[in-house]
Amino acid sequence: IDTILFKSRPVGEPTLDNFEFTQEETAELKDGQLRVKAAYISVDPYLRGRMSAAKSYIPPFEVGKPLLSGMVAEVIESKNEGFKKGEFVSGMLPWKTEQVVATEGLQKVDPNLAPLSAYLGIIGMTGLTAYLGLHEIGKPKEGETLVVSGAAGAVGSVVGQIGKILGLRVIGIAGSDEKTAMLKSKFGFDATINYKTTENMQQAIAEAAPNGVDIYFDNVGGPISDAVLFNINRFARMIICGAISVYNNTEIPTGVAVQPFLVKNSALMQGFIVSNYAAKFPEVAKQLANWLQQEKLTYTETVVEGFKNTPQAFLDMMNGKNKGKMVVKV
Ligand code: NDP
Repeated sequence: IDTILFKSRPVGEPTLDNFEFTQEETAELKDGQLRVKAAYISVDPYLRGRMSAAKSYIPPFEVGKPLLSGMVAEVIESKNEGFKKGEFVSGMLPWKTEQVVATEGLQKVDPNLAPLSAYLGIIGMTGLTAYLGLHEIGKPKEGETLVVSGAAGAVGSVVGQIGKILGLRVIGIAGSDEKTAMLKSKFGFDATINYKTTENMQQAIAEAAPNGVDIYFDNVGGPISDAVLFNINRFARMIICGAISVYNNTEIPTGVAVQPFLVKNSALMQGFIVSNYAAKFPEVAKQLANWLQQEKLTYTETVVEGFKNTPQAFLDMMNGKNKGKMVVKV
């Protein structure tokens, strides 16, 4: 069995040296357990947080132990009545090509309802994040203006589409012309901004949002988010979902002070963690699956082939090489 261990904590940008490949023997299968074979592995920005020793909402990875993330796996042997050989499950699992697992925390997934990789993206964690962040904190109302950063990624591309379903004007910020073109042609965004080629972001946002910004879905933090602040409306809501632009920082990032903007506009800025809303997952996953079936929602993903390419896929996602959800097909 091939395994990927967390070899060392990155300082600044992670590299392949932070990962180590090993092999281990197959474990004995005990009553109640399953032997599963990895099918798809999710690589996500929050893994960068777990690579650091700092305290957060989930514990740091331990050096010398396998990394873990969302995975879809096939049951290849079962000693549990609830699961049959040939079925698929999803859950947070260590990066191993094969493993013996207890069934707690695993969900069955049906490859006939949606492609297996979709359970890691649009109808999985990132889709839930998009829906719940936008609804629970964004409280969208028809006709309002929504700005999404990280718009061409897994979460952002779904946020924008839900915004359109709800009748919002949607503006997406992403890191290449290819991505901004896709936001308009595939996902129906009204306006887009390439932050890498735009000199004055504050002005570009003002032009794209002539009525100001009512909701900001923030995936990136940093200077992009600073520029949005200058354009918020009274009673604006800002969903702080992620801050990927500063995840590799070794010093505390600085930026404009948010307080005057919040006071002046009676605006709300709130951090968001999807797991706080776990009670709503089944209902929201069903809604997302329905929209997908009705073709009101669509998605794209970047699929990297081969277990051994999992670390590189993670590094590439952090550098924006993905469109939509980045997954590894084992
Ligand atoms: P994405 O699919 O969006 O991939 C990451 C993207 O971030 C890249 O494609 C890249 O796109 C962009 N990016 C990288 N560096 C920068 C930078 N310096 N400035 C601006 N953009 C940058 O990942 P996810 O959709 O999985 O996650 C998006 C965000 O949501 C992350 O911040 C993540 O931590 C957060 N998240 C939070 C959850 C929660 O519960 N709070 C749950 C899930 C995700 P580009 O080419 O446009 O730069």
